[in-house]
Amino acid sequence: MLLRGNLNDQIEAKIRELQYQCNTLSRQLSKSGYLDGRDDGTINSTLSVLSDVYDGRILLVSKTFKIEKDTYSIDEGKLNISESVLKCFQGESLAEYSEKSRRIQMTIPVYNLALTDVIGVMVVTSSSSSIIDMVDGYYSRAGVIDIVILIISVFVAFFLSLALVRPLKRVSDALKKAAFGDLEPVDVGDCVETQRICDAYNKMLTKLKTLDESRQEFVSNVSHELKTPITSIRVLADSLMSMEDAPIELYREFLSDISDEIDRESTIIDDLLSLVKLDKSNMELKVTQVSINELLELVLKRLRPLAKRRNIELVFESFRPVIGEIDEVKLTLAVTNLVENAIKYNVDEGWVRVSLNADHNFFYIKVQDSGLGIPENVQDKVFERFYRVDKARSRETGGTGLGLAITHSVIQLHHGAIKLYSKEGEGSTFTVRIPLIYIA
Ligand code: ADP
Repeated sequence: MLLRGNLNDQIEAKIRELQYQCNTLSRQLSKSGYLDGRDDGTINSTLSVLSDVYDGRILLVSKTFKIEKDTYSIDEGKLNISESVLKCFQGESLAEYSEKSRRIQMTIPVYNLALTDVIGVMVVTSSSSSIIDMVDGYYSRAGVIDIVILIISVFVAFFLSLALVRPLKRVSDALKKAAFGDLEPVDVGDCVETQRICDAYNKMLTKLKTLDESRQEFVSNVSHELKTPITSIRVLADSLMSMEDAPIELYREFLSDISDEIDRESTIIDDLLSLVKLDKSNMELKVTQVSINELLELVLKRLRPLAKRRNIELVFESFRPVIGEIDEVKLTLAVTNLVENAIKYNVDEGWVRVSLNADHNFFYIKVQDSGLGIPENVQDKVFERFYRVDKARSRETGGTGLGLAITHSVIQLHHGAIKLYSKEGEGSTFTVRIPLIYIA
């Protein structure tokens, strides 16, 4: 298509060029009076040069339709009354290309000096074979180049695909192995892409392993924690049974201990259920607009009797009224754990300060105590499930080691953050930051 267009362009250019040359010649013919029989030799030589250069033939037809000049010297003296010559005498000149004969044909009028009358007609035919040969050559050359390019492209594509597919196959083999439980890191660094896939896979593998380890640790912790009260109950019951004629007071004392252990078992189960629910119901927060001031006041009111038992001062400080989009039940549980800990791990006659503040985006709850504090090296661990700094004390106060893990999960579900600042022996401060508007 492109070459076809190219051929037409070339022929049109040749027609334009011929027309220009012939028009110039036509003006010379008018001036020289050549058609009236005057000839200075210049016109004849111009005519023969032109016909040579354009590989054509020029006929000069006079008003009487007689051929005055034929550059082939064949038809001189004969008449030419073809339609195109007649039309040209009437002022309608012709310029056309015949694909069949591969020739350009044109008629150009020769005017008298006053330019009022057509006194003759130039009939020009020119061969376009040279142009066509040139384009044909171009055609065949382009065809050969196309075929060569095609062959090279096929080879390049074949070798490239081989080079690309080989490392991908190795990655896919490694992934198949992983599917059968062989969780080994993969390293196929043949190209950047496969290296990236391997890096992402290895990262995922590390995360999976960590998750699996923490799951196993959690299961073993749960079994241990649940077994402890049961073992105590068994020991208490066995020792009662082994005693013959034990006094009723001893029975009472042992049964009361057994009852305490049952309470403890039930608290652990409750906390575990809360955690499992939090893990499962990521999307199930019952978010409503809640006054955080009222929520905190209620938590403190419930815990005041616990603080009073050890003469601990419980203070609430609110900097402004705050309405937040939160799950009321879950956030109450999280804050209760924090304030309860601040009371439990406090000194007698100590203090606990709870404060509430907010800016445009977040509200901030701060729980500060004058208690035992948490050693710096374990501050990261206190949010882990079942972690307790002092196991004996935690057990004494009825702790399960799950409280802060629950608090952490709730705050994460609200897209918030919790931070701990503490110094051993000086007290602890937990700060919670939660967005005022919940975005699911
Ligand atoms: P527990 O049920 O044992 O209280 P938590 O998850 O609530 O479990 O807390 C984990 C551990 O962090 C506690 O056992 C305790 O040692 C420590 N801890 C938590 N809060 C405080 C606090 N305000 N002051 C001192 N230690 C604390």
